[in-house]
Amino acid sequence: MAEILIMGGINHIQLSSPLSSIHGIGPRFIQKLNKLHIETVKDLLWHFPTRYEDFSNITKIADLAPREECTIQALVKKINVRRAWHKRMFIIEAKLEDETGEIRAVWFNQTYIKNILVPGKTANFSGKVSESREGELYFSNPGYEVMTFQDKETKHTGRIVPIYPETKGLTSKGIRYLVQPILKEIEKPKESLPQKIVKQHGLLPLSEALHIIHFPETLDDALEARRRFNFEELFLLQLHLLGERARLTKEKAPALDIGVEMIKAFLETLPFELTPSQKQTLWEIMHDLNKPTPMNRLLQGDVGSGKTIIVALAAICTAHKGYQTALMAPTEILARQHYHTIVKFFPDHEEGIALLTGSESKLSYGHGLETDLKKPSLVKEIESGKVHIIIGTHALIATSKTKKERKITFPSLGLVIVDEQHRFGVRQRAELIKRKEYIPHFLSMSATPIPRTLSLTFFSDLDLSLITELPKNRKSIVTSAVPPEERTNAYTFIRNEIKKGRQAFVVCPRIEPKTEDQKLTTKELEELNIKSVKEEYEKLSKKIFPDLRVAMLHGKMSGEEKAKIMNSFVKNETNILISTSVIEVGVDVPNASIMMIEGSERFGLAQLYQFKGRVGRGEHQSYCFLFTDSSSEEVKKRLTSIVEAKNGLELAEKDLKFRGPGEFLGEGQTGMPDLAMRALQNPQLMKDARKSAEEITKKDPELLLYPDLKNAVKIFTSQIHRE
Ligand code: ADP
Ligand code: MG
Repeated sequence: MAEILIMGGINHIQLSSPLSSIHGIGPRFIQKLNKLHIETVKDLLWHFPTRYEDFSNITKIADLAPREECTIQALVKKINVRRAWHKRMFIIEAKLEDETGEIRAVWFNQTYIKNILVPGKTANFSGKVSESREGELYFSNPGYEVMTFQDKETKHTGRIVPIYPETKGLTSKGIRYLVQPILKEIEKPKESLPQKIVKQHGLLPLSEALHIIHFPETLDDALEARRRFNFEELFLLQLHLLGERARLTKEKAPALDIGVEMIKAFLETLPFELTPSQKQTLWEIMHDLNKPTPMNRLLQGDVGSGKTIIVALAAICTAHKGYQTALMAPTEILARQHYHTIVKFFPDHEEGIALLTGSESKLSYGHGLETDLKKPSLVKEIESGKVHIIIGTHALIATSKTKKERKITFPSLGLVIVDEQHRFGVRQRAELIKRKEYIPHFLSMSATPIPRTLSLTFFSDLDLSLITELPKNRKSIVTSAVPPEERTNAYTFIRNEIKKGRQAFVVCPRIEPKTEDQKLTTKELEELNIKSVKEEYEKLSKKIFPDLRVAMLHGKMSGEEKAKIMNSFVKNETNILISTSVIEVGVDVPNASIMMIEGSERFGLAQLYQFKGRVGRGEHQSYCFLFTDSSSEEVKKRLTSIVEAKNGLELAEKDLKFRGPGEFLGEGQTGMPDLAMRALQNPQLMKDARKSAEEITKKDPELLLYPDLKNAVKIFTSQIHRE
C-alpha cells in the first residue's frame, strides 16, 4: 500500500472534507471505508480504536522470549519468496539482524513485502514471538515499518498501536496509514463542549483527545481520551432527551377527563382483580391522560405481568371520551393477538375496534359483531372517526419514508400505544393527526427489564410506570441448561410431553459473524438465521421427530404464511414450531409448555428471558431448555443466571453489573451508538453527564448560549435516528 501524500500547506484538511478529496486515497480504498460508514475525514477520525497493542519498548533480539509481544529494530539481511510445496501459498522469509543477534520472520502470501523490506534497510518489527518445535524463535506475520530519516514517528511498531474495527481488505494497519498523516494536517477541531464543562470534569480538550485516542503515549492516556469522548456522547444524549421533554411540555394534548366511575365500571367486568401495581400504573396513566399536555410514558413490566389489560383500559376509556387510539405491535402475530384480547376483554364495546395489518382487516362493533372489510373500506371507516381503537403493526400506522402506501390520518387520535418500541417522536405523532392542533398522548409498553441506571440514561424523556409483580397463582417454569451429552434425554422428554398433548417451541440462534472484519449487513444476518432454522427443521422433522408434526417460522415468510403457521400452532395442529427470534415478543399460546433454545450462548440475556416467557402461560407445568455446545465458564455463568433468575429486573441489574449493557440488551436492541453503550459501563460518568445536562437545560433549554453545542446535539440526534 502506498503512503498517502498530503500536499500543500499545513492544516488545510477540513473535517467535513470527503476522503475522496485527499490525494492518495484511491476509489478501492474509499469503497472499503464506506463499508465502515466512513465517508468524510471526520468519520475516519471518529472511527476510534477498540483496543491497543503495546509495542512501545524496543527489545534486543538476544532478549526475545517466546510468546511475548514485542518490537525489535533490525536490519533486513536477506529476504526471499518461496512457494509452500503442497499448498497454493507463498511464504516470504526474511533474515533480520541487530547488534545482539539474528532472527527469522515469515509472512504468508503478501509477496509485495519483498519490495518494501529490501536488504540493507532498517525497519521496526512488532508482533508475538513464536517458537518452532526445534526451539528456534521467529516472528510470524509481524507488523513492520521501514525507518526513514524524515519520519521519526512510527505508526505500527515501537509504540502503543491502535487496533480498529476492520472490514474485509481494510486492516488496522491500513487505517493507521490514513489516520496518522491526516491527524497531522487537520484543521484544529473546534471544541464542542462548553469550557466550563471541560474544566469541571477534568476532560481533555477535543483536539488533544483526538490525537491521543489514535496514538497514545501510554494506555492511561488512551483511557483519558476515551473518557472525554464517552462523556461527550452521554452528555449529548442527555441534552437531546431533556430537550425532547422540554418541547413536549409546550405541546397541547386533549385532556380526556376520564372519571373514576368509568374505570370502576370496566374493572367490574373483568374476570380478575388487578394486582396492586397494575392499579398503581393504571392510575398514573389515567392521571396523565386527563392533563392537557401530552403523556410520554413507558409502562414496564415483566413478561406475563399483565400490561395488555392496562393499555386496553386506557384505550377503551379514551374511546368512551370520543377519541381514537392507535395500538402498534412489532409483528402481525402480536397485532392479531392484541386485537382478539381487547375484543374479548370488552365484549359489549360499541366503539369499533379494528385490526389492520398487511394481511388482515377486521372490524368489531362488539356483541359478537365482527366483519372482514376490504382494507380501503376499513381505512375509510377509520378516517371517518367511527372506529375508535385501531390495532396494527408499526409499519402500517407509523409514517414510513420507504413505503409508498398512503398513510392513515386520524381525525381524532388521542392516544398512541406502542409495544416494545420505546420512542415515538413528537413530529411522528403530529403527522398521524389530520388537523395538527394537538399531539396525541403516548404510551409505550415493554417487557425488556431495564435497570434503573439505564432507564435514567436512555429514557430520561419518558415517565416510568412499573408493574412489579405477577398475577397470583403462576407456576414457575422449570429451567435448565442442557449440555451436549444430555441432548438425547431432552428429546425423549419433549416427546413424552407432546404425547401428553403439549406443544414445543424451538428457537434457533441468531448467527453472528465471528470476527470484526466480517461485519455482515442486517440482510445477510437474516439469511444466516433462516439457514439455521431450515437446518434445524430438516433435522427435527426428518431424523428426530419424523412421526410428529413440525413447522417452521421465520421473518422472510409472507404475512399470510406466518399467520397460517401460527394459527395452526395455536389450534394444536402442529406439535413443534421451529423459529427465529420472531416469536420472541408477546406470543401467547397457553398449551405450549416447552421452550427449547438452540445455541443459547448466542442470545442476549434479555432475549433469552423473553423466550422463556413464551411458556408457563397456561395451567401446565412448563419447561425451558437452554441448549449449548459451549463449555466455556463464562457461558455457563450466563446460563446459570437465567436458570436462577426470579424476575427480569433482578436479572438485568445483576447482568449490568457483571457485563455492561451491550451484553445484556444484545446488539442493536437499544438503537444507541456503540460508544454510548460502552460509556454506560461507567455509572459515575453517566451521572456527571446527566447532572451537567440538567443544569444547562434548566437555564437555557434551547441552548441559545451554546450554538456549537446545539449543533453537536443536532448531529448526535440525527445519528441515533439513523441507526
Ligand atoms: P404481558 O405483560 O407479558 O403483556 P399479558 O398482558 O399478556 O402479559 O398478561 C398475561 C396473562 O395474564 C393474560 O392472560 C392476562 O389476561 C392475565 N392477567 C392480566 N392481569 C391479571 C390479573 N390481575 N390477574 C390474573 N390474570 C391476569
Ligand atoms: Mg405482552
